[in-house]
Amino acid sequence: MRSRDRQRYSRQILVRALGEEGQQRLLDSSAVIAGCGGLGTFLADALCRAGVGRLVLIDRDYVEFSNLQRQCLYRESDAEEGLPKAVAAARRLAEVNSDIQIQAEVADLTADNIGRLLGGAGVVLDGTDNFETRYLMNDFCVKNGIPWVYGGAVATYGTVMTVLPGETACLKCVYPAAPSNGNVTCETVGVLNTVPAVVAALQASEAIKILAGKREAVSRRITSLDVWSGLVRQIKQPGPDPECAACGRREFVHLDAARRAPVTLCGRNAVQIHEAPRQVNLEETARRLQPLGQVRVNPYVLRFSIPPYEITLFPDGRAIIKGTMDTGLARSLYARYIGM
Ligand SMILES: [Zn+2]
Repeated sequence: MRSRDRQRYSRQILVRALGEEGQQRLLDSSAVIAGCGGLGTFLADALCRAGVGRLVLIDRDYVEFSNLQRQCLYRESDAEEGLPKAVAAARRLAEVNSDIQIQAEVADLTADNIGRLLGGAGVVLDGTDNFETRYLMNDFCVKNGIPWVYGGAVATYGTVMTVLPGETACLKCVYPAAPSNGNVTCETVGVLNTVPAVVAALQASEAIKILAGKREAVSRRITSLDVWSGLVRQIKQPGPDPECAACGRREFVHLDAARRAPVTLCGRNAVQIHEAPRQVNLEETARRLQPLGQVRVNPYVLRFSIPPYEITLFPDGRAIIKGTMDTGLARSLYARYIGM
């Protein structure tokens, strides 16, 4: 190990359960963090400082003022600039640890791009806020034998579960369908900022064990906790269910569904449009839209304001239309101003 690494990670190498060998494995490993919100920013910070050699940060959204209460890598200027979260997070972390590789992916994780984004990962961490994306990750990870760590944080409670394909139950074994409260998100019922911190700390610990080759130490329990009551509950995680559609029957339906329909972003009063993926020149589009409303542009995102709507356009043609939950209206705004 380089003396610079031995110095930087000295407090971690001293931890007997990890040691220098475990640290070296971390340095040689890679992790993907899907979603850079409350969970994802904490996960990325922890794994970056821990010396995971390569981090891929995926997020489809941009920084907003309401994120600053809990999303620990962002500052006010990121929200003012409307920077994509993946870019803002990677920028910040490059200042924390310049010895590791950090890849920012401003993208919506879909069946089309999941192979490129998650392929080859040593572990995948769930920083998303919806079951649709989690089922997609579960299918991909189970199919390819990649461990992944589920995490949920809402209001004052959280849940953590590690999926070791072939060894433990997968997400579909435990939740064959999205829980009926699946639409309860931090956008609708809020979230205390200590919840993502504690949930992500548990997730990151699992990831460190997996990446350091300490698989036997991985928790075989589903942990639920409530920071308000202070109660922590753990149940034994079952083994793979032979009847499970994903890990039992190996029917990976979520990987087949190349969905491109507009998606409402729950509780955000916004719709995402991603029907016509293509390269868009933001500068050019900005010049065209200038006479029609207020336009702001940076290399990552274009913001076009036509009250009561606001269109945020990414270079891959994806857009988030704020001010409506009506997908039809959002599509027509997209068609009118951006073009299909
Ligand atoms: Zn399963």
